[in-house]
Amino acid sequence: MIVILVGPSGAGKTTLCKKLLEYDDNLVYSLSATTREKRKGEIEGKDYYFLTEREFRDWEKKGRFLEVAKVHDYYYGTPKDMVLRSLSDNKDVIMDIDIQGAEIIKKKMDDVVSIFILPPDLEEARRRIKVRGMYNRIELQNRMKTARKEIKEIRNFDYAVVNDNLKECAKVIKSIIIAEKHSIDRMEV
Ligand code: 5GP
Repeated sequence: MIVILVGPSGAGKTTLCKKLLEYDDNLVYSLSATTREKRKGEIEGKDYYFLTEREFRDWEKKGRFLEVAKVHDYYYGTPKDMVLRSLSDNKDVIMDIDIQGAEIIKKKMDDVVSIFILPPDLEEARRRIKVRGMYNRIELQNRMKTARKEIKEIRNFDYAVVNDNLKECAKVIKSIIIAEKHSIDRMEV
């Protein structure tokens, strides 16, 4: 199945994904492509495929994406190959994507579980974004504006989990995955 983590900047989705991968050998991370600049410490092919706009358009033309979205002025996309290959190997795929992308994946794919990750409150989200240290005031304001908009969409998703403690939050998500696997709808009885 596909597990989508959505939620505003500062909710801690990326860190959560990493934690969940430690807990679950059957889980594979869907590595996205983006046109945004690489941040300090980020590694090509590990954090993202960092593409120029031209390369991104080329991948898009060749049908290499399952979904694409423009987020905070940059393009992001989920490469198709790896997701389809992992699913056919009976692996579960975890995605850290925005709300627009999540809506596309939910429509296109079967077996999707969507989990909205919330920061404890917006002030904490702002603090977490600031700690990353790479945004100017306008960018920070934009992220906070998008965060408020995204939270209003929460009812479109299957679950909501507040990330006030990374380990606890990862445990809750792991439990959701286990429970979903036992859903009658997913069983070939
Ligand atoms: P960041 O630039 O902080 O890594 O990510 C910004 C936003 O883009 C986050 O909400 C993240 O979930 C989203 N994002 C990352 N990869 C993808 C993707 O492949 N598709 C979509 N639609 N959003 C993505």
